[in-house]
Amino acid sequence: MALIVQKYGGTSVGTPERIKNVARRVASWQAKGHQVVVVVSAMSGETNRLIALAKEVQANPSPRELDVIASTGEQVTIGLLSMALMDIGVKARSYTGGQVRILTDNAYTKARIVSIDEANIRHDLDQGHVVVVAGFQGVDDAGSITTLGRGGSDTSAVAIAAALKADECQIYTDVDGVYTTDPRIVPEARRLETITFEEMLEMASLGSKVLQIRSVEFAGKYKVKLRVLSSLEELGQEGPGTLITFEEDIKMEQPIISGIAFNRDEAKLTVLGVPDRPGIAYQILGPVAEANIDVDMIIQNVGHDGTTDFSFTVPRGEFAKAMAILEQVKGHIGAREITGDNKITKVSVVGVGMRSHVGIASKMFRTLAEEGINIQMISTSEIKISVGIDEKYLELAVRVLHKAFELEQVPA
Ligand code: ADP
Ligand code: ASP
Ligand code: MG
Repeated sequence: MALIVQKYGGTSVGTPERIKNVARRVASWQAKGHQVVVVVSAMSGETNRLIALAKEVQANPSPRELDVIASTGEQVTIGLLSMALMDIGVKARSYTGGQVRILTDNAYTKARIVSIDEANIRHDLDQGHVVVVAGFQGVDDAGSITTLGRGGSDTSAVAIAAALKADECQIYTDVDGVYTTDPRIVPEARRLETITFEEMLEMASLGSKVLQIRSVEFAGKYKVKLRVLSSLEELGQEGPGTLITFEEDIKMEQPIISGIAFNRDEAKLTVLGVPDRPGIAYQILGPVAEANIDVDMIIQNVGHDGTTDFSFTVPRGEFAKAMAILEQVKGHIGAREITGDNKITKVSVVGVGMRSHVGIASKMFRTLAEEGINIQMISTSEIKISVGIDEKYLELAVRVLHKAFELEQVPA
């Protein structure tokens, strides 16, 4: 007998019929003798609807109240799934995050899980229940409802699996695993049998939303066995999905590049004609950091005539705020002009094999050059290379890179 945590995303519970399908799948795991905890998202579109509703009443919603509203989508699904399970003869009990007591910090809309009280869950499992928990939410120590950021149900599931020391955490979604890139953009994308935590972490942080980044961090930290699977396949005919593995467990030679990630949520700001002297990067980025704005890619051009240009990217939602900050410090730092472009995107190639192979960057740059795609910024780490490009070239770039690195082919 194993203890399994399953998570079903928005599409997987998007209609009453799909919820009934989920119930049948859960029942089949329980019938094999396993204990099952199910974490569910809101029905697809519901969280967007709730956030839009809140904004109709308060343009800039109070974060605490926004969480009160956004968390209700999941509360509906846990009730519906528990009823669907009961209807097919499975004992089930639902819990909101607060009822489990998933304790978080109080950073509303992007809270972090601090601890999980597993007593209720264990008690119910021992009584033969399937336990159905609302994803995406918790409570802070004052009892206020918090949410974990978009896509946060993945993190709820992995954190619960870690707390229960579950044998496996299964993320059921609308694709049958992790692909070499988003299959919606590249139809030839290939499902990966395995991907290492480190690669998955890069893919998630570089924009592949199949798993929320914090869920991957949790799985790595607590060594949770994590698998991505499809909820849309016929019962009994499921494929193996993708297993997230630890690099040290892999015996085979790894492909050099495992996948391509992309992120549309980038905006570029450029400070033109600043004095080329020590401390200038700090003077520009210090006030941006103080305003809690995440800076991603950065470049400083070679100086000429004692001045230089300095560019960096921020999330698009922070673009206006970052521009306003730069306009404020412009006089103080002696800059000639501030310009901005909120139509930039980032494309990244990811693979642990880069550690031992050279020439990946030049191949990436040549491939983009052959399509006339201008690279505006570059950033690298040991296992990834990212470039900033105009958003109108994004899909083309992903497709030509996928082809150039032969990702549609199973590595020999
Ligand atoms: P859920 O609602 O189940 O949480 P998401 O929409 O959050 O599902 O994530 C699944 C989606 O992630 C897929 O439909 C796919 O379009 C997208 N995706 C992006 N990159 C990848 C990738 N590398 N592999 C698989 N899916 C990806
Ligand atoms: N329902 C939440 C969202 O849409 C959480 C999730 O689906 O993981 O972001
Ligand atoms: Mg998701």
